[in-house]
Amino acid sequence: MDFALSDEERAVRDTVRAFITREVMPLEAEVLRRERAHQPGLDHSEVRELQLKARKFGFWGLATPEEYGGMNLPAVLQSLIWTELGRTFVPFRFGGEADNILFHATEEQKREFLIPTIEGERRSCFAITEPGAGSDAANIRLSARRDGDDWILDGEKTFITGGHDADFAIVVAVTDREKGARKGGATAFLVDRSMGWRSEFIQTMGEGGPASLIFDGVRVPHRNILGEIGQGFTLGMEWIGKGRYTIPSHAIGIAERVLQMAIDYANTRETFGTTIGTNQAIQWMIADSETELEAARWLVLRSAWTVDAGLDPRHASSMGKLYGAGMVNRVVDRVLQIHGGMGYTRELPIERWYRQVRLYRIFEGTDEMQRLIISRDLLRGYTKIGGHLA
Ligand SMILES: Cc1cc2nc3c(=O)[nH]c(=O)nc-3n(C[C@H](O)[C@H](O)[C@H](O)COP(=O)(O)OP(=O)(O)OC[C@H]3O[C@@H](n4cnc5c(N)ncnc54)[C@H](O)[C@@H]3O)c2cc1C
Repeated sequence: MDFALSDEERAVRDTVRAFITREVMPLEAEVLRRERAHQPGLDHSEVRELQLKARKFGFWGLATPEEYGGMNLPAVLQSLIWTELGRTFVPFRFGGEADNILFHATEEQKREFLIPTIEGERRSCFAITEPGAGSDAANIRLSARRDGDDWILDGEKTFITGGHDADFAIVVAVTDREKGARKGGATAFLVDRSMGWRSEFIQTMGEGGPASLIFDGVRVPHRNILGEIGQGFTLGMEWIGKGRYTIPSHAIGIAERVLQMAIDYANTRETFGTTIGTNQAIQWMIADSETELEAARWLVLRSAWTVDAGLDPRHASSMGKLYGAGMVNRVVDRVLQIHGGMGYTRELPIERWYRQVRLYRIFEGTDEMQRLIISRDLLRGYTKIGGHLA
């Protein structure tokens, strides 16, 4: 059994680490200053500038196939890169990406939606959640009714990441209520903002915020169907599947960074004539954090490896998402505690991470939904205890 990184994995990881350290981390003080002034950490043009700089280093389209100018990296390498991105709170991600399901587009749709998204000329959002359908995504109600060569969309989506900035939305709508979403009654549509949907920004605990999208008789041409009629729910689950290992990979990077901050603070902050790190209470918080961090690392890398091995990744990635999201919340909470009053201030970024990581237990499948999947797989015998080693 080999737990080491290959030479290639280490080289890529180290190059990303050097880029993040040299080009992104120096922006942290400014991002914190802007947050205190209620401004976005980075604006779109600043993110784009960094992305183009990264492109010169060869980092462009981590998951994007080579024929579209991307790197098409294995999932394990992508996971390692997401961990490096997690080590800074600057809201940066590499460019050259598009929602994974956009690759199901027709050639015409690729020219209109996929390629401009990869090039950063257009912004997309993916919309399945509705006010009455989150965890129970099959309960969506936004309807698409056929009218000649068009479809008419009516209803509302909510909590859509990037929904207030997007030029177009990938919208999962009900096309056959009798069948139900899960059994072929839902279809994905590519809907330009210019077709008439509007968005309302939603304030949240974290930076930025999702949006509600309102469709009031929005007319969409038939050629804007993504994939097949009736394939919408399957595409939605495929979209969500990707986040199941990238989110906890990011969480690992955050935990690594904040744990190091706690170690440094514990070794320097003095109370009662000695550093706080000499107290067992602090030592145990550090020990528990490191142990949980390592457990999450291997669960998440295993789930990414499962993708690369061509195995069904759902069970492993649900465990990685559940444990990684919980782990980062516990670690950030302990690190905040170790910093005492300073941890609670906006002088340090810890409280910012504290708010940010709370989301990780909610979006792209809540803790409870991951537990439901994991236990159902075992109870129904879809998976054996021990996974691929069983
Ligand atoms: C910041 C943010 C960004 C998001 N981005 C997107 C996006 O880009 N696109 C998109 O489509 N959606 C997005 N979402 C939606 C997100 O996926 C949903 O919020 C999430 O799936 C939970 O749905 P809900 O909020 O309706 O909660 P509900 O489904 O109403 O659940 C409420 C609570 O009940 C629990 N619960 C529900 N059913 C059960 C059950 N059977 N057993 C036990 N517990 C249960 C849940 O786990 C949760 O704790 C985003 C959400 C947020 C907050």
